Parts: sequence; C-alpha cells; structure tokens
Amino acid sequence: MKLGIVIPCYNEEEVLSETTKRLSELFSSMMEREEISEDSFICYVDDGSKDRTWEQIEAYSEEFTFFKGIKLSRNFGHQNALIAGLMQLKDEADALISMDADLQDDIMLVKEFVAKYKEGYHVVYGVREDRSKDTSFKRHTAGLFYTLQRYMGVESIHNHADYRLMSKKALNSLAEFKEINLFLRGIIPLIGFRSCSIYYTRDERFAGETKYPIKKMLFFALDGIASFSVMPLRVITVAGFLMFFFSLLMILWILVEKFILGETVLGWASMMTSIYLIGGIQVMSIGIIGEYVGRIFQQIKERPRYIIDQEI
Ligand code: UDP
Ligand code: MG
Repeated sequence: MKLGIVIPCYNEEEVLSETTKRLSELFSSMMEREEISEDSFICYVDDGSKDRTWEQIEAYSEEFTFFKGIKLSRNFGHQNALIAGLMQLKDEADALISMDADLQDDIMLVKEFVAKYKEGYHVVYGVREDRSKDTSFKRHTAGLFYTLQRYMGVESIHNHADYRLMSKKALNSLAEFKEINLFLRGIIPLIGFRSCSIYYTRDERFAGETKYPIKKMLFFALDGIASFSVMPLRVITVAGFLMFFFSLLMILWILVEKFILGETVLGWASMMTSIYLIGGIQVMSIGIIGEYVGRIFQQIKERPRYIIDQEI
C-alpha cells in the first residue's frame, strides 16, 4: 500500500531534524518489510513559519527521496494546514496519516495504523490512554470541554487529537465538507465508514514550545461546540420562555400588591439584582447568537481555507 504522512509545522525548527530522523528510520524499515510501498511519502506542511522551518523542509526533500513539502502563503492555523495537506495529497496515496511535528504522538503507531487499514478500516483514530504527561490545567480544561460537548450533543472521540489514518475513500468524503471553522475531530466521525481506535500514551513535546496558547485553545474549543451543535441557541430560547412566564407571575403579584393589599413599597435590592441578572442574561444570549451569526458570515464568503505558495 502507498502511505502518506501529513505533518503541519509552525515554527518547528527545533524539532524537525529529530522528527525527520525518526520518521525516515521508521519508513525505511517499513519499506524493507514491504509494509508500505517504495513510493510512500511524508509531507511537511509549512504553515507560514517565521523561522527556518521551510529551509529545513527543502533540505530534507533533497536528502531523502520520500520527504515532500507544501508551503502555505501565510499562517492559516493548524486545522487549515492539516486540511491543506490532506486535500492536496489525497489522490496520491491509498491512505494518509495526520501527525503533529513535535513527536508527542508515538510514531510506532504508524505500523498499527497501516495494519488496521489492511484489515479494511477506513478511519483509524489514535486515542491517548492517559494524560498524565499533560499539565493539570490542560487535563482539566480538556475534561470540562468533553463534558460540555457531550451535553451539547456533539459526538466526538474523547482524547483523540488529530493523530489518525484516513483511507482515500474517507478523504474523498472529507472533501465534501466545506466548512470554514474547521474542527476536524468533530467532522470525521460524521463521515462514517468502518473505523476503530488504537490506544497510546502521548509524550511531552520533544523540543520548542506549544503553538497552541490558551487563546487559540479557547477559540478552537468554541468551534468544537458551535460548529456542531445548536444547543446553546436552544438553551437561550428555553431560558427566554422561562423568564417570560416568570415575569407574568411577577406582574400578577405586583397587581395583587398594588390593588388588593395596597403595600407597594418597592425594594431597592431586589430591583438592582434583577436588573443585573436580566441584563447579564441578555448580553450573554446576544453573544451566543453572535457566535453563530459570525460563523454564517465567515461561511457565506467562501474564502479559501488555505493558499499554497510552493510545493516540493
Ligand atoms: N501548528 C500549525 N499551525 C499553527 C499552530 C500549530 O501548523 O498555527 C502545528 C504545530 O507545528 C504542531 C501541531 O500543529 O505540529 C500541534 O501544535 P502543538 O504541538 O504546538 O500543540 P499542542 O500539542 O501543544 O496542543
Ligand atoms: Mg504538541
């Protein structure tokens, strides 16, 4: 079988040489054992790096026959860089594996991915068995995120990042999904076909620092929910109804106070709290609606998800 590995890279000069070394060893051994064909390849997608990442990719593609490179015109973000590589190369291999550049994902899993593909699976997920090497912050926020996703009815594979194999058939289906706010782990389960998971322990980043600072992480999480579920909008509708009925009861009570009991001394405290409470709920609700309107706005423009500058 002809295998391709797609690796998005953003300012990864510190890890790329080690990644290249380990992957070329793996590829050579897999080719020797005829697990993959001689024309299999590894493609780095340079996501507008500002360091020497692209120069390194150029050098590797000259040194080894199976290394390729795609250079995007600027930084488009991890998910877009990944889709760029997958869409660009889907017709050139029987299956593609996506992987991070920082060697956090155990590259030995590639052999198991390939074995599963040969058994007839079209999507193989790499799932992290434990998160003990994560910071406790990342572990907790991830847990919270999965819970939230579950309540919102979004199906996703827990503890699966973007380390997975997809067959050509699955990739052609992925090509039908035209969404701009990409959250690939949410889309892939929607494709269907025969799939399975393989478990592994995720390592720490080999070198350099994370390219996913907290701000990027939060917005990514927002995509993971708002791109797949309209539940937040429904919650607003339900809350609106509840508030409306509550206010009817309040009016009834006020009328009784005024005309029957005649004790209309209005409390300052209760008024202030209700103003703040209702104001807060309103602003939050408008914000949530805005998130969806914003997504419609971005989608309707149909801007390209990535632009390729160079291919080697
Ligand atoms: N990445 C990218 N574009 C970006 C940010 C990240 O292509 O704008 C790549 C990065 O080079 C790495 C992968 O996405 O290969 C995952 O990033 P990172 O390891 O920094 O994320 P973390 O593992 O800390 O969540
Ligand atoms: Mg990483």
